[in-house]
Amino acid sequence: MKAVELFEKEVASRFRLPDEAPLWDWMHDNITLKDSPYGGKFVISETPWLREPLSCITDPAIMQLTIMSGAQLGKTTVIQGGVAWALAEDPGPTMVISDAGDSLENLAENKINPVLESCPALARVMPDNRNGKKKLKIKFPQATVMMGPANDSFLRSHSIRYIFGTEVSAWSPGNVQRSKKRTTRWSDRKRVYESTPKLAGDDFCAEWEQGSQEEWNFECLGCGGMIEPDFSEIIKWDENETTRPDGKWNFKEVRKTVRLECPECGHAHKHTAGTSRRMNNGGRYVAKNPGANERNRSFRFTALCLPPSVCSWEDLVEEFIRASQQAKTGYTTPLQEFVNLQLGQPWVEERYVKIKDLALDDYDPSVEWDDQAFTFITVDCQQYLADFWVCVRQWSRDGRSRLVRYERPKSFEEVEEIREQSGVKSGLVFVDRMYKPDEVAAACSKYGWTMMQGEDTSDYLISETKGKRKLKRRRPVSNKVKVSISRNSPIVLLFRWSNPTVKDILATLKEGKGAEWLACDVGEQTEAYQKQVNGERKTESIDRHGNTVLMWKKFRENHALDCECMQVAAAIVMGCFGSGEV
Ligand SMILES: [Zn+2]
Repeated sequence: MKAVELFEKEVASRFRLPDEAPLWDWMHDNITLKDSPYGGKFVISETPWLREPLSCITDPAIMQLTIMSGAQLGKTTVIQGGVAWALAEDPGPTMVISDAGDSLENLAENKINPVLESCPALARVMPDNRNGKKKLKIKFPQATVMMGPANDSFLRSHSIRYIFGTEVSAWSPGNVQRSKKRTTRWSDRKRVYESTPKLAGDDFCAEWEQGSQEEWNFECLGCGGMIEPDFSEIIKWDENETTRPDGKWNFKEVRKTVRLECPECGHAHKHTAGTSRRMNNGGRYVAKNPGANERNRSFRFTALCLPPSVCSWEDLVEEFIRASQQAKTGYTTPLQEFVNLQLGQPWVEERYVKIKDLALDDYDPSVEWDDQAFTFITVDCQQYLADFWVCVRQWSRDGRSRLVRYERPKSFEEVEEIREQSGVKSGLVFVDRMYKPDEVAAACSKYGWTMMQGEDTSDYLISETKGKRKLKRRRPVSNKVKVSISRNSPIVLLFRWSNPTVKDILATLKEGKGAEWLACDVGEQTEAYQKQVNGERKTESIDRHGNTVLMWKKFRENHALDCECMQVAAAIVMGCFGSGEV
């Protein structure tokens, strides 16, 4: 490109005044969306719930916009329109951040770059490939747009006015905060984050909760009031001999009865293109967090907004019933997907899956047990080593065991007191060294305790000598490792144990399918124990090879579970489950 042409491009971009039209009109007139059914034109009347979020992009008073929604409801369109408008009308350094990998390339190639190329004001000043146009970075004369993954290196150094973050719930913890820091030098900064939600309490949910929390409500065609899109409250279907003969759902019959009932007047809406349109046209956002900073707005809309040609309420009900049935068997992934991708709600395990607390056995832990061969103390350390959970359990030589104490001391000294009172040998106190390994090692050296560490591996290769043969066996606990603290302090022993395998063994014991494993009322912390020891469930996950596997996942406090896992690991080391000491 010649210098004169460059100069003309520069002038052309610098001397345009920001367009005052609403963003949805600007988008209709200025960009082409490949996926739009309206000849590539953006038509706001088809998605009226996008009006408010779009107006936040052009409103200089808004600093952050967070959109949590179901899938395929238009949140990517907000990003596409927002990026194009920002670069064309009110330019500043712009960053589009996505989950790493394929989705980033796909976003750039299919969603962002074609929209920028379709915008005449941007096409005029678009650099060619030799002069600053790359797939993930376009240097316009007025500002540069960079697209990259939500990771430390991409989010490290640039100073950015506009941040557009997509599928934010897939980002690793901390990256939302990192991205925010990029904008601090711009007083007219703007951050837009969008995602389908995943787990309640993650970084993305925290951003949404800090905003105004506006939910897209429908207008009731009966009373004219606003209906909150609470699926379990408003979507109804019949359960009777026709829809569920002999306890088995007949979905053809169920679908005939599906309706949306107004909680105020009871008006039943059937899902037709007409009702859908009228309920949305009269719809509006209702804010749940009026105390939020007024520069920070957050929005949510659900698949209930969509017309029946795209996603019918009947489809949603059928999906919900099927997923709920699977959840009852313990397979919760389909229900979680329904909640995340259709309802646009974060998953709260306990809301949808009932987990029983551990039932207690009836014995007196203060009475001596004739079969007792060992007593182990296991210690779960909290992050600052100012709070501990301690479990004392007696074991027989053949793997039977009973809980005798569960307590919450506040220091290593108090742990040592429990040991003295219980008459347990120092080496049979096992301390989790996951947090602050150096401090834990120092305490273990001082008191003569042993360290333990759970790991994700499924087993360890252990050499055993039988007669003249040396055998390698797979075991759930490692050989002991000697850890030296300093020249003058005693050496500490460390055992590593397999999280997945030991948890499976403990589950078998808890279910009464293995050697007798008892727990009774042990005083003040009993209730905490009953909850915590059932604090994890097996759920489906994708491993690093992309395979679907069942893995233990924490869904509430699990300190007692960690303590009991270490008890099982200790019992394995001491040969209570058949094989001898290592
Ligand atoms: Zn009503």
